[in-house]
Amino acid sequence: MHECPRLRECAFFQEKMGAMPLSTEILKDQYCRSNYAVCARYVVFQSLGKDGIPQDLFPNEPKRAREILSHA
Ligand code: SF4
Repeated sequence: MHECPRLRECAFFQEKMGAMPLSTEILKDQYCRSNYAVCARYVVFQSLGKDGIPQDLFPNEPKRAREILSHA
C-alpha cells in the first residue's frame, strides 16, 4: 500500500476537475492511497507527462487511458 507520488499536483486528488463523482473518496482509497500504478491518470502521466493527462480523466478509466496512449 503506497500513496501516489502525484497526490499534491493531481487535479483529481485535489478535486479541481469540476464536478466530482460521489465515489471520489472511494476512488482515492482504491487508487491514490494504495494501487496508484493502475490509475488511468498515472498510466498516462508515465508515458506522456503531466501535460498529456486530460483534465477530465478519472482513475477508473483504464480503457480510455489505453486509447489515449494508442493515439499518442
Ligand atoms: S488520480 Fe491517479 S495520478 Fe492522481 S493522485 Fe490519484 S492515483 Fe495518483
